[in-house]
Amino acid sequence: MSSTIAQVLVVEDDPVYREQMEIPLRQAGFQVESCPDGQAALERVRVFRPEVVVTDWEMPRLDGLTLCRLIKGIDELRFTHVIILSSRGETASKVAGLDTGADDYLVKPVDPNELVARVRSGLRLVRALSELAAKNELLERLALTDPLTSLPNRRAFEESLSREVSRAQRSGRPLSLLILDLDHFKSINDSFGHGFGDEILVGFARLLARQARRGDMAARIGGEEFAVLLPMTEKIHAITVGERIRRACEGTPLGRTQQQSVTVSVGAATTKGTAGSSPAELVDEADRALYRAKAEGRNRVFSL
Ligand code: GH3
Ligand code: MG
Ligand code: MG
Ligand code: MG
Repeated sequence: MSSTIAQVLVVEDDPVYREQMEIPLRQAGFQVESCPDGQAALERVRVFRPEVVVTDWEMPRLDGLTLCRLIKGIDELRFTHVIILSSRGETASKVAGLDTGADDYLVKPVDPNELVARVRSGLRLVRALSELAAKNELLERLALTDPLTSLPNRRAFEESLSREVSRAQRSGRPLSLLILDLDHFKSINDSFGHGFGDEILVGFARLLARQARRGDMAARIGGEEFAVLLPMTEKIHAITVGERIRRACEGTPLGRTQQQSVTVSVGAATTKGTAGSSPAELVDEADRALYRAKAEGRNRVFSL
């Protein structure tokens, strides 16, 4: 468990009960705040961000079960551990409380030692869940990022491509794709070493990211192969973007330890309205255009 001080919110309309909870929780070392009803608590949780909420059931304005349901429905508060503390001791009430999404249910009067122990137990759970969610988020980001250039990788590109193709088909707006392949890259590696080849790839990725407009997506989809997805872009404009990238590449020596000019060939393709091409068809067309750009002498933008 992390050593940060845990934040606990006590929600109870009866001032005597409220104090009886606050005191042992403070003595246990928690940072405690309290609210006299569910409505006040609902406003407070967004700012105070307690890890654990101990709430009474019956209260004016907003009852504890509704409060619990609302807290669990707020995405950034979904891991908040909610303990219902009620004088209703029969099974049906406990079931109702837990089924609302409460994590624990205690019956009044509760021994202060048990209350503190329940809060501690809830805290362990909240922190484990939050850590897990943070790790999952990191893994997901890593799985979609190319480690060398930090650009979105092929998988991320394919996800965006399929999403954008569907969107283009629904809206009837054009979607363009550029596929870019560095020219004679093998000879860069052969002449200067693989490490320097990597530097060129990083430099080209930066150049590409700079040239892309907001809403465009640049990705590294293979060794020295890149793609730029251009939503709502006609072919003529896609070619202009491709030409701008080609020229910037030609005119900007790349590399960190030394500087070396490279050129890039570009294939452009565009979906055709609602009848639209599939993701595979769009990629295939851009690939064939790229092949033509290479065949015609490289360092050029081509479309079919
Ligand atoms: P072309 O103009 O026809 O594209 O020629 P090319 O030499 O670029 O094409 P080819 O496909 O023959 O070679 C691609 C080269 O890219 C070969 C491979 O070693 C290199 N390469 C692929 N991935 C990486 C990488 O991550 N780092 C480095 N340094 N080189 C890579
Ligand atoms: Mg009450
Ligand atoms: Mg290649
Ligand atoms: Mg190449």
